[in-house]
Amino acid sequence: MKLDHLVQCSRDLLGIDLNPDIQRAFSVYADELLAWNDKFNLTAITAPDAIAMRHFLDSLAVILAVTLLPGQRVIDVGTGAGFPGLPLRLLHNYIELTLLEATAKKTTFLDHITRLLELDNVRILNARAEEAGQDTAEREHYDVVLARAVAQMPALAEYLLPLCKVGGMCVALKGENAVAEVQQAENALRILGGHVERVITVELPQVPETHHLVVIKKVAATPPKYPRRPGVPTKRPL
Ligand code: SAM
Repeated sequence: MKLDHLVQCSRDLLGIDLNPDIQRAFSVYADELLAWNDKFNLTAITAPDAIAMRHFLDSLAVILAVTLLPGQRVIDVGTGAGFPGLPLRLLHNYIELTLLEATAKKTTFLDHITRLLELDNVRILNARAEEAGQDTAEREHYDVVLARAVAQMPALAEYLLPLCKVGGMCVALKGENAVAEVQQAENALRILGGHVERVITVELPQVPETHHLVVIKKVAATPPKYPRRPGVPTKRPL
């Protein structure tokens, strides 16, 4: 796949230069995503330029919300085919990335693509966020917790905040209704130890709808009873 447009937009919108090695990695990622899509149902977006804008550039835009530092532990919750975590790992090879995904078929793809791209410091975890959040090895273990298109904000807060260290950041990639969703999540955020620092507007080329990055700081420990059992956060949001 040709990625000239991604390179140009990354420079214009995000102020980053994707070097030739990174461009090659994105090209392989796009080709494999399409090749595996029929069998594994990974994405509804299949036009090459739409993959570049809606998957790759949208994921990279997380750098407008947080500065990722060497050695930081980053987890992407409900990553699907790797968004937004993998593009960020291609850009910043110094982060320690965990890709958390409940569907085994999708983690099979993630195993394949990370092996093909020879990515170290990437761990793939086939589990639900509600289970990971109650696992002592995962709980309050991450500096940065990310998610795109996984759940409405109140349930999402219950997935993300238990995994985040106190003092760490969660970034939720949201669409048009981000501000309303944040309002609905006020109670959940207060209970779980989160504080919304800002909501950043992102306008992507060739994408008509406005995207938002909801930036949440973890200001207090999450009470031990959260997250509740799998399925409960969406069925009975806080
Ligand atoms: N984040 C990816 C993206 O933006 O392209 C995938 C989005 S897809 C709509 C939602 C993904 O979240 C699915 O792959 C689903 O299996 C996963 N998911 C939903 N709830 C989850 C949970 N509680 N724990 C882990 N993964 C979950």
